[in-house]
Amino acid sequence: LTIREQVAALYQLQEIDGRIARAEREIVGLDAGERERQKAEALERELEALRQRLHANEREMLDAELEMKSLEAKRKEYEDKMYGGLIRNPKELQDFQREVEEDLKPRIDKIETKILQLMEEIEEQRAASAAANQAAQEARAELARVSSAYQAAGAGLAQELEELRSRRQQQVGATPADLLRRYEELRSKKGGAAVVQVSQDGLCSGCRIALPADQARAVKREEKIFACESCGRILHWAGPLGD
Ligand SMILES: [Zn+2]
Repeated sequence: LTIREQVAALYQLQEIDGRIARAEREIVGLDAGERERQKAEALERELEALRQRLHANEREMLDAELEMKSLEAKRKEYEDKMYGGLIRNPKELQDFQREVEEDLKPRIDKIETKILQLMEEIEEQRAASAAANQAAQEARAELARVSSAYQAAGAGLAQELEELRSRRQQQVGATPADLLRRYEELRSKKGGAAVVQVSQDGLCSGCRIALPADQARAVKREEKIFACESCGRILHWAGPLGD
């Protein structure tokens, strides 16, 4: 390889390295949907809590309705006895009446009030559960959308990186070891730009300082590898070669 070819190959390697670094930054910066996941999970927990309160009330309602039925049956039984003409003893009749008025009726009133209250609560809780379920479903759908976009972007970048790394391997294989070492060292010190072009008016594009005219001409001939005297970067002539 001529010096010109070596430096040009190094410049290409640097381009590949720049693209690798960019793809790696993009992968790190991808939105994995953590915010959407947290939101969906919070809504799921809210929905679950609402459902549990609703089910507790529904169970309480069943118990209250059963109790109501049994109290009503008892009242009917007493009334049938009282008004069926079977009881002739006035004292016994009075006892039944007192039992109905002082025990059964207040208990029935109380359970009726409770049932009405539960009905109201259950209605509200069903509406709240339906709304929470809707919100949780929307959050899950949004999470699925973000997750699949994340996976697609991640897969695309992973493939791009794989290709770039294999190109890098080829490029590295074609570069002399001492030049590669120098490149790596410069690259880490100079923020990724180890090889820089010399502009046609003789400026180092790394530090924007003009090279001495004789050096600029020498770089153009590229008989050896030159470094910029002010920034130390390897210089590469990219313009036309004619004198
Ligand atoms: Zn320079």
